Amino acid sequence: MAASRLVRLLQTLRPAEFSLARGLCPVCGFGWQVRLARNELGVRCLRCGASAVTQSLVAVIRAELPQLRQAAAYEMSAQGPLVAFLRGACARLTTSELLDGVMPGESRDGVLCQNVERLTFAAASFDLCTSSEVFEHVEDDAAGFREVRRVLRPGGRFVFTVPLHDSAQTVERMGWQDGRRVPLLTPAYHADRYRGATVLVQRDYGRDILDRLRAAGFAAARIASPPQPLFGHARPVVVATVD
Ligand SMILES: [Zn+2]
Repeated sequence: MAASRLVRLLQTLRPAEFSLARGLCPVCGFGWQVRLARNELGVRCLRCGASAVTQSLVAVIRAELPQLRQAAAYEMSAQGPLVAFLRGACARLTTSELLDGVMPGESRDGVLCQNVERLTFAAASFDLCTSSEVFEHVEDDAAGFREVRRVLRPGGRFVFTVPLHDSAQTVERMGWQDGRRVPLLTPAYHADRYRGATVLVQRDYGRDILDRLRAAGFAAARIASPPQPLFGHARPVVVATVD
């Protein structure tokens, strides 16, 4: 784990919430988990630092893709425990970030820039696409879902996480007015290391995210529950499949 991330984690540490428990990390195989705070990012593998979100995602990827060793994968971030896992587990891995001031398809400092609303990859390039906490920030998520569908091969899987709210309907936090994006609700932000301090949350997804994926051309979509409790902070994972 990078030192700066460890420092940020320690800054969130509350002694009353600190706890250790046995629990196998699906990312690196280590047998101990630490809880630094009572939330999904505050539960970590003691060795690789993967959060409860990343561990949930990897557990579902392993269950969904028994042929992971032969898979060509695309992950929509360029570093961290998920990228390290995929790099070791898949036949081929492509990673990217959305970089300000860089054309999609070009790189800066070895990091490929991609905008998921208009990917530069050829159709049917990948067996697996993954993303973690990305789509709630995508302005036109329908275009993004269609693009992921386009670059997946027949039989391919899109396995990803977003903050899922306990509601039937997605709530759009931003809308269009006179050709500009305007807030419909109080603006909310998440941290993003590549694009400055914070990035705007476009929507709060509900269970109709599955309808949105089917409307974008996926043959099927469902929400998978990870097998581990992770101090009660295991994250549901969305799985969409291509025929
Ligand atoms: Zn681990």
